[in-house]
Amino acid sequence: MLKKEADFAIIGGGIVGLSIAHGVLKQGASVICIDGTDTDFRASRGNFGLVWVQGKGIKTPFYAAWTRDAARLYPSFVSELSEETGIKINLSQNGGYEYFLDSKALDQRIAEYKKLKSALNGDYPYEILSSTEIRSAEPMVGGETVGATFYPYDGHLNPLQLLRALTESCQKRGLSHYLGEIVDMAKKKDGVFKLVTKKGLEVSAEKVVVCAGLGAKKIGPLFGFKDLVSPQRGQILITEKLPPIIGRPSVTIRQTNEGAIQIGDSQEQVGLNDNETQAQMSRIAQNAIKVMPKLAQLRLVRAWGSLRVMSPDGLPIYQQSVSMPGAFIVTCHSGITLSAIHSAILSRWLTGQKNVPDLSLFSENRFHA
Ligand SMILES: Cc1cc2nc3c(=O)[nH]c(=O)nc-3n(C[C@H](O)[C@H](O)[C@H](O)COP(=O)(O)OP(=O)(O)OC[C@H]3O[C@@H](n4cnc5c(N)ncnc54)[C@H](O)[C@@H]3O)c2cc1C
Repeated sequence: MLKKEADFAIIGGGIVGLSIAHGVLKQGASVICIDGTDTDFRASRGNFGLVWVQGKGIKTPFYAAWTRDAARLYPSFVSELSEETGIKINLSQNGGYEYFLDSKALDQRIAEYKKLKSALNGDYPYEILSSTEIRSAEPMVGGETVGATFYPYDGHLNPLQLLRALTESCQKRGLSHYLGEIVDMAKKKDGVFKLVTKKGLEVSAEKVVVCAGLGAKKIGPLFGFKDLVSPQRGQILITEKLPPIIGRPSVTIRQTNEGAIQIGDSQEQVGLNDNETQAQMSRIAQNAIKVMPKLAQLRLVRAWGSLRVMSPDGLPIYQQSVSMPGAFIVTCHSGITLSAIHSAILSRWLTGQKNVPDLSLFSENRFHA
């Protein structure tokens, strides 16, 4: 049996686990990351690639603020990662749009943003664009679009390149990375955690962070965490590659740096099923054409389904175990957007640093109410 030890053991090497590993390693701690197998559901490899603030935390200003602050950290986070690894992450963060096809829905969003901005002491710099303004800013927009909201820190990137860069940066900083290993046993004795994988790898660590995505359902309860995550399927369509025709991304349509238009806006409760379906693909395409009618002329070349890792209220869960102190769970939808803040700030909460924002509103306890 191979035995390894470190200050931190991170279970799960998706975007969440690696962002945290990155931040913890930068503080000088040693880290072992144990990551499952290619047959696992992996949201980090099937997502839309947005760094996105608008629309989030409308009724929970603390989450809107956390997301806004995450987006603000992004440019320096990405440039440091790219410089260090030479990997291009293709971050474009010049703002993004949410398009509206219905004036009532737009009016409602304007009212919600006014309230949110005041709850955040004015620090929520959205703008509203009329139908004429958005059509002139984005010539592809037409059809039924009645207006748009704009948020200046929104953007997009290549999420697979971000994952690669984080992996390489962590490995350069001394990460011990075990792939194809599934943790299925955990205990704590004399203040030290001992984890054992199915293949027999044995890891000892002072602290454990469960970042297992949907795998947390199974592994979380071993550390006393509640079984709170559930899957939500999203499907994504990819068109042929074109010269630049879309300036800024929206929450459902973006043009990647390679030229393909990526479209997706489905949220389905179908359990652990990440297949794509004809019905959803048609609906997604039809909705996109309502915003940008010229998309109808493009050829679709690829589509996939992927499962989001959802908590009951859609917000992140950051929790230290009550029954096994030293074990933490970190899980979220929006793991791409939160990557920078998970590395820079959440990692300091995990290492027990002072001057970390109060994260108690993200604890599991909120689900008692
Ligand atoms: C369709 C779709 C679109 C999305 N779009 C965006 C977006 O535009 N912007 C954004 O910010 N977010 C987006 N997301 C969300 C984002 O992708 C996720 O929040 C993020 O990928 C979650 O990362 P994770 O590391 O928690 O989970 P995962 O990527 O699922 O990784 C979990 C890892 O844990 C491993 N694991 C599981 N169990 C065990 C075990 N017992 N032992 C060892 N390893 C284990 C698995 O192998 C896996 O590698 C989207 C998600 C989807 C599905």
